[in-house]
Amino acid sequence: MPPGIPAGLGVEMAVVEPLQQTGTGRRRLRLSNPATLEPIGEIEVQGASDVQAALERARKAQPAWAALSFEERGSYLARAVRVILDRQDEFTRVIVSETGKPAMEAVTAELLTSCDALQFYAKRAKRILRQRRIPLHLLKTKKLFVSYKPMGVVGIITPWNFPFSLSINPTAQALMAGNAVLLKPSEVTPFSGKLVEEVFSAAGLPEGVFNLVLGDGETGGALVEAGVDKISFTGSVRTGRKVAESCGRNLIPCTLELGGKDPMVVCGDADLERAARGAVFGAFTNSGQVCTSTERVYVVDEVAEEFTRRCVEETAKLRQGAAGEFDVGAIIWPQQLEIIQSQVQDAVQKGARVLAGGQRNPREAGLFYEPTILSDVSHDMAVMRDETFGPVLPIMRVADEEEALRLANDSSYGLNANVWTRNKHKGTELARAIESGCVVVNDCMITYGVTESPFGGVKSSGIGRVNGEMGLRSYCHTQSIVVDRLGGRSEPLWYPYSERKLSMIKRLMRFLWGTSLGRWLS
Ligand code: NAD
Repeated sequence: MPPGIPAGLGVEMAVVEPLQQTGTGRRRLRLSNPATLEPIGEIEVQGASDVQAALERARKAQPAWAALSFEERGSYLARAVRVILDRQDEFTRVIVSETGKPAMEAVTAELLTSCDALQFYAKRAKRILRQRRIPLHLLKTKKLFVSYKPMGVVGIITPWNFPFSLSINPTAQALMAGNAVLLKPSEVTPFSGKLVEEVFSAAGLPEGVFNLVLGDGETGGALVEAGVDKISFTGSVRTGRKVAESCGRNLIPCTLELGGKDPMVVCGDADLERAARGAVFGAFTNSGQVCTSTERVYVVDEVAEEFTRRCVEETAKLRQGAAGEFDVGAIIWPQQLEIIQSQVQDAVQKGARVLAGGQRNPREAGLFYEPTILSDVSHDMAVMRDETFGPVLPIMRVADEEEALRLANDSSYGLNANVWTRNKHKGTELARAIESGCVVVNDCMITYGVTESPFGGVKSSGIGRVNGEMGLRSYCHTQSIVVDRLGGRSEPLWYPYSERKLSMIKRLMRFLWGTSLGRWLS
């Protein structure tokens, strides 16, 4: 154990420590800063009755909220942006204190992205969710309208890696669609969840439209079973499965944004300076605790040595720490540190070489793992197959792009990927061949930050999409309204049935799909 950890304080207890039950019968958790291990506060774990009370408040408030115009709802979100702008420094301090990330990452990946999401949906929801008329190819005597209606109350459950932005972004979308929200942030980062509550309260959101429930899996489980109308879940595959099972039993829709094992493919014609810098940023930002972080690299043989050398050089320049100017922050909680350590150990035992890092940072008291580069890795190592969620960049040499593609697709995950080549056409073709919800060419991660881009995974990385038009509409029930245009006493397919009618229909079918004029018309 590094020097500085107080004696008797197990690392497992250092960030989220269970305390005695209080007079209210609720469990309490004591939170500590993962970078310094200093206590930062306590929360009570809210149970099923607290969740029910919050749901009742939300049910009461939702109809009036949904009755507001898009402009009116948007004005609350615009005010929320101003609250964030006015209190940037205070919010940054809170986020940094419970995540140990650099202030730069708290500002860019938490506050900036949140302002963008709030403003984006406030401004565009009216266009995206307006009732649309869809021209009909066959039944010209009818009109079709498709409209998007609020679902009611949406339960949002979020993880600890981007505790502010991953809570505010789905909330902004659910609210603009006319829903009320129950947010359950991670028990590891509840104070960022409290900031979200403060933002909407300071923005003057009507009572009951946004509701925060704090706690751990018990609270999350209660929320899924509470009777909400949709669950938006971001977190691990393991918990995602449980959430999906409950939603299936209760027949409510859920969006699941789960883990990833994102591959990076470096072609022989890649700009190696940019690719190496991209690899280092993609693997180490937020200490690798990003669902879209680069978790495994496949580099073609001819440029492997040069690319790897550059990655090691770039990594050596990184500063890790808890104070002052630094690039790489803490691991947010001890369980993650254990996963990282065990994956690196497993890789080394199976023959991987450590080119940088490879250990817990011995100079820091808090939860820090050094930015690590591994070479000579293979797919029988956990570090190439399981999500690491830490600052580890394993680099594998491959014969050619075909082998890179085969290995990139040899995964149970499919969230994000990145491809590096000077030939953008080839890059896009390779991107299409990768089994992944999102792919970036000559950059990394950015898909979640491109607000218009529908974001989500294939395979075990999730179900459904967040963000953009598709994401916003997923907080609505789609309603089809078909209107008869002509009226009249009856319709050709109504009663009475007759042989004559039947033969007319058969003739019509032969004309419509059996002749070229009919196919053109239909
Ligand atoms: P987690 O699954 O442990 O927890 C996520 C949330 O679920 C927390 O709020 C937790 O309290 C709650 N929860 C726990 N048990 C529950 C239950 N039985 N029912 C309902 N809720 C429950 O995940 P984590 O460790 O907080 O986050 C890390 C994971 O999240 C990684 O796998 C990462 O890849 C993934 N992630 C995915 C995305 C994405 O957009 N795809 C984004 C960020 C993180």
